[in-house]
Amino acid sequence: MHLARFPRVRLFPTPTPLEKLENLTRHLGGPEIWIKRDDCTVVATGGNKIRKLEWLVGEARAQGADHLITQGAVQSNHVRQTAAVARRFGMKCTALLERRVGTNDRDYLNSGNVLLDRMFGCAIEYRPPGLDMNAEAVAKGEALRAEGAKPYVIPGGGSNRVGSLGYVSCAQELVQQADEMDLHVDRLVTATGSAGTHAGLLVGLQGCNAGIPVLGIGVRNPKDRQEAAVHSLAEATADYVGVRGGIPRATVDANCDYIGPGYGQPTDGMKEAVLMLARLEGLLLDPVYSGKAMAGLIDLIRKGKFDKNERVVFLHTGGQAGLFGYTGMFEHAMEQTG
Ligand SMILES: *Cc1c(COP(=O)(O)O)cnc(C)c1O
Repeated sequence: MHLARFPRVRLFPTPTPLEKLENLTRHLGGPEIWIKRDDCTVVATGGNKIRKLEWLVGEARAQGADHLITQGAVQSNHVRQTAAVARRFGMKCTALLERRVGTNDRDYLNSGNVLLDRMFGCAIEYRPPGLDMNAEAVAKGEALRAEGAKPYVIPGGGSNRVGSLGYVSCAQELVQQADEMDLHVDRLVTATGSAGTHAGLLVGLQGCNAGIPVLGIGVRNPKDRQEAAVHSLAEATADYVGVRGGIPRATVDANCDYIGPGYGQPTDGMKEAVLMLARLEGLLLDPVYSGKAMAGLIDLIRKGKFDKNERVVFLHTGGQAGLFGYTGMFEHAMEQTG
């Protein structure tokens, strides 16, 4: 793999920290849990979309674009990160927000990521749930082009073969970082949503023959659909970067048992995980992705699915700004648990 062939902008210093979670490891009695801090990608409170945007905005600039268009749920971390990066490069940003989570909660609708989108001067349009949101974004791009803009349309979550390069590159970074620390990594665990993170990691790890399996914890789709989405994007990305032989379907592993009632809907496990990491490690997870992924990891550990001597790296994909879209729910959870 030779990623320098593709246009890129640089947005944050690498490598992001790789740290041992001593207290959580002790609390759960093994395996050894480490965390890769992709919440520390600097721009606009950070998160995994910043890695993808390095390549997406690189391509947008190479094409002479002056306006980024993207889409997501109301509390989308991806939209917030895209809106910020657009400003950094003097571009406009238009976001289509899908009312995917049925709630009238004031903080959900106005605070957290939505507040930050507005601070970055992002033009927001709302859409009802259930539309083909990527098609909506393409149509919006065409409308802006007709008005004289030079649009660049980024799919939801930045998940296409260009955005996935961010996680091909992250996999290379992690392997090199672990090697320098003499750290043998047995498994990588990540939240998996629009699939670009999971797919990019599989391609990057395969491309460096790392032999590190990836477990994705789903936040939206049933297992079959999630694995199919990750596999098809991984194949497209492998082809794009020239990883020969493709990505075997059997290496795509998504556990979708921790979604609860649906995307962005709180679960007891998520609340427990967010509070556990806050109180044991002084670390902030988010309610939609990393909180549910950590809830999955904790539950699977309790069920004995990991060897006590294994070393697991949890990829922290960010999203803390989303906590402020869910304040009432956490206030309630803390009243219950003290
Ligand atoms: C988008 C997002 C994810 C999921 O990443 P995908 O590439 O969409 O699968 C995980 N965590 C956070 C905080 C996110 O914002």
